[in-house]
Amino acid sequence: MRDFTSDLGALALNTATLGHNLDGYGAGWPVERVVDACAERGFAGLVFWRREIGTRAQVIGERVRASGMKVVGLCRTPYITGPGAPATLDEARESVDMAAALGTDVLTIVTGGTELGTKGVEESQKLLAERVASLAEYAAACGVSLALEPLNPMFGGNRTCLFTVAEALRICDQVGAPNAGVAIDVYHVWWDTTLSETLNAAGPRRILGYHLCDWLADTTDMLLDRGMMGDGVADLKSIRRAVEGAGYDGACEVEVFSAGNWWQRDPAEVLDTIVERFRTQC
Ligand code: ZN
Repeated sequence: MRDFTSDLGALALNTATLGHNLDGYGAGWPVERVVDACAERGFAGLVFWRREIGTRAQVIGERVRASGMKVVGLCRTPYITGPGAPATLDEARESVDMAAALGTDVLTIVTGGTELGTKGVEESQKLLAERVASLAEYAAACGVSLALEPLNPMFGGNRTCLFTVAEALRICDQVGAPNAGVAIDVYHVWWDTTLSETLNAAGPRRILGYHLCDWLADTTDMLLDRGMMGDGVADLKSIRRAVEGAGYDGACEVEVFSAGNWWQRDPAEVLDTIVERFRTQC
């Protein structure tokens, strides 16, 4: 397992951790200030959300690289199943274009929920596989890989139809594209005692991202009360051991949605805390 105590070479910030991706939250730092603040602290990478990028993908990508970091991902496609999913994949293709213009090779997919007019998840997973296959072909031509992120089952219905890493990997097998894989997020897998076995069977090629936070024992808001690493009950070292044991050696992306706590703080304090926790807790 990699030693992070004195090496930040894998540390990336998912900018949602500073809160400004939701209206009314965070300190509202512009992208440039976030880039500079991360570079100063020795972060190695950044993951952006589409709403921050707008039409400036190329400029922002260059800015990140000029500061010595990488854009390690883009969040995310629009939903591609369930309520709120656009009728076509056009917007999803545009998000692929944005990832390519930013200069990142990973675009995350949060699938969307149960398809309207159906029950359960199987029908939605079938549609998901078809749609991801179509999108993967387009993404491959742009040099972009698609990371399917399974979510904790409490997000079923309106946000996801993928609940486990094993299910996400099965969809990847059905899609059959070399540029389809999974993102492993501590918040969604911390309870999964089969993680190591499942990832080992899949191999390193399918693991496209690893997302860090913690699960607070007394979570008060399922979406917006994630814990900072070390504050909760997730066994972070054991999860990373499972991910790296399967061959993953990419970025570890800190993604803490925390409306009541971390989004209320000065972003400089949040970034300093991340660096310290990354070295000691992850
Ligand atoms: Zn995530």
